[in-house]
Amino acid sequence: MTGTVTRFAPSPTGRLHLGHAYSALFAAEIAQRDGGRFLLRIEDIDRTRCRPKFEVAIIEDLAWLGIEWEPSVRCQSDHMADYREALDRLRNRGVVYPCFCTRRDIQREIARAGAAPHGQEGPIYPGTCRHLSEDERAARMTGGHAFALRLDAARARDICGPLAFVDRKRGRVDVDPMREGDVVVARKDITTSYHLAVVVDDALQGVTCVTRGEDLLEATHIHRVLQCLLDLPAPEYAHHALLFDADGKRFAKRDKAKTIAALREEGYAPAEVRKMAQR
Ligand code: GLU
Repeated sequence: MTGTVTRFAPSPTGRLHLGHAYSALFAAEIAQRDGGRFLLRIEDIDRTRCRPKFEVAIIEDLAWLGIEWEPSVRCQSDHMADYREALDRLRNRGVVYPCFCTRRDIQREIARAGAAPHGQEGPIYPGTCRHLSEDERAARMTGGHAFALRLDAARARDICGPLAFVDRKRGRVDVDPMREGDVVVARKDITTSYHLAVVVDDALQGVTCVTRGEDLLEATHIHRVLQCLLDLPAPEYAHHALLFDADGKRFAKRDKAKTIAALREEGYAPAEVRKMAQR
């Protein structure tokens, strides 16, 4: 296939490790093999966790590994207006509602109900604020209560009808819009969420093949629904298996030993580290 556009989209919350190197190489290789383009995106909407020094380090580590990406790097924090605009479109379609619940409220409601179905992101939101009347919503907003915006998954399902996405390894996957429940599309502290920003960015950047770890496979169900609601094109997906360390554990940013920087300091050459970052 020609013209494939892939991307690597790390969050600058720590140094890159071998798992990231694998993911970046996976994306870059697909673009190269398909004669396409490989993009880099910095996912830094969460200003409490992201640090500019890690953003610099990402660029440094990828360049040291010998990975080449297109010069224009998209930083999410520079594009908040794009996410606000998408959120307005969701609002206009009547598929989001304000949620005033704190984590505590949600835990309490789940305990009261006895049990809650679990999604990939934890217990599914019990829907407390979905049932608030317009008057109650207005009163809480006027009272200055902080709120997130949640997707009304049942309404989205009814609007979109049956949806699917195509994964290079798995083939056609039917979407279950209810799988993660009413997910947050705009957090209380920022006017977006990972789900919304990623869908908007992939569309605006013209990404045709979304490459990422299979830990995000569940999120793709949500993303496909958002693409439908926002009239955005459906890219192809290539979810890769995760890279594990010698103990069978996932690489994590807190695990300093296997960061690209640590390996470089130990004296490994880029080609050796690229080899380690293979499955
Ligand atoms: N920023 C996400 C992460 O670092 C990746 C999101 C994606 O590839 O869609 O895990």
